[in-house]
Amino acid sequence: MSSTPSLRVIIVGAGIIGASLAYYLSRRSRITVTVLERDVPGTGASGHSFAWVNAFGKDPGHYHSLNRRSLDMWYRLAHQLDTDIGLHVGGEMRWENQREPAERLKQRIRQLQHWGYPCRLISREEMMALEPHLSPGAVLAASFSEADLHVETDAFINACLRHAVVHPHTTVTGFVKHNGRITAVKTADAEFPCDVAVLASGVQTTELAALATVSMPQQRSPGIVIKTTPCAEVLHNVAVLHAPPDDEGCQHLHLRQLADGSLRIGQGTQEGINRDASQQHADALLARAKVYLPDIGDAAAIPTPVGYRPMPLDGFPVLGFTSAVPNLYVALMHSGVTLAPLVGEMAALEIADGARVDLFAPYRPERFV
Ligand SMILES: Cc1cc2nc3c(=O)[nH]c(=O)nc-3n(C[C@H](O)[C@H](O)[C@H](O)COP(=O)(O)OP(=O)(O)OC[C@H]3O[C@@H](n4cnc5c(N)ncnc54)[C@H](O)[C@@H]3O)c2cc1C
Repeated sequence: MSSTPSLRVIIVGAGIIGASLAYYLSRRSRITVTVLERDVPGTGASGHSFAWVNAFGKDPGHYHSLNRRSLDMWYRLAHQLDTDIGLHVGGEMRWENQREPAERLKQRIRQLQHWGYPCRLISREEMMALEPHLSPGAVLAASFSEADLHVETDAFINACLRHAVVHPHTTVTGFVKHNGRITAVKTADAEFPCDVAVLASGVQTTELAALATVSMPQQRSPGIVIKTTPCAEVLHNVAVLHAPPDDEGCQHLHLRQLADGSLRIGQGTQEGINRDASQQHADALLARAKVYLPDIGDAAAIPTPVGYRPMPLDGFPVLGFTSAVPNLYVALMHSGVTLAPLVGEMAALEIADGARVDLFAPYRPERFV
């Protein structure tokens, strides 16, 4: 029998990133994984997400490739977890009804095809074949991104955390350090000894990193995705729909339908700022959705509180051990739903095996030192 001691890893945060990493680490022998969560799993950004898994608007090429590779990993991960995580395959369809945005969409599709992304411009007939009950109005350009999908973040997080020791309602308040390394993670009434501490703490990563004297600047990025009560099946094939801005100057609308028939609706881009958590705003989004999908019928809009995206200052992920505290690992990012499989699997290689994954090279924490 080997006498190699086990590696004790404490993950701070039970969002989609902490959960995915906990899952991949827990598949190895001689690693003990403990997840500390100040609330209950999935209540941070992951619970507010639109959860569209894609590499559509991700520039430059290396960031597109990172997202693309992770997108393709979702199938294997879902198979390994062997439970329903609400994976909805079907692609993303969008269209534009004004000349300039239509030209921009055509250019975008050309760029994405150049990168090998499975997307294409489609005719109005193809749109209607994909979604027969859609009322798109004028269509100057339309596209279909075949590989895109969506997942249920709660179901995924719970499936991953079945494999780890989780302490909910446990707020991390600091770190015990010895010779520049973290030896324990502190909460109000306990200390959890560790060999590696991981910050997968979303927007709170900045203040937690500061407690360990590490700089991890973020921008504030509030967003809203409203819910509805269940309605008839309105999306028959595609997983995600993007509709153009309306005549009143409202932004693009994005929409997906869950297995229970309820909808998730947001506006603007995936990074769009929105703080309006009112019933009025929720009603307005649903009213716009009904213009394109009349079968929504009398479903009711449910406003949701503002969600804050973890958003590093330059918009790109932060991944890796810090130089200031060599056993502190940071996993902070927007698009964490898309990136969760790849980040979980590859951060596990770095933490458990001491690998330096080349794919993470552009995203190291040192860039903020
Ligand atoms: C409105 C909106 C729309 C989005 N749409 C998409 C999308 O379509 N596609 C996509 O890929 N991404 C999207 N995102 C981004 C994505 O949701 C996030 O990148 C992802 O959820 C981040 O996961 P996380 O685990 O890093 O953070 P979180 O989910 O925020 O998890 C961090 C956890 O850490 C816990 N925590 C914090 N401080 C402490 C502490 N001191 N002690 C213990 N626990 C602590 C928190 O309670 C939280 O549960 C969207 C985000 C928002 C807000």
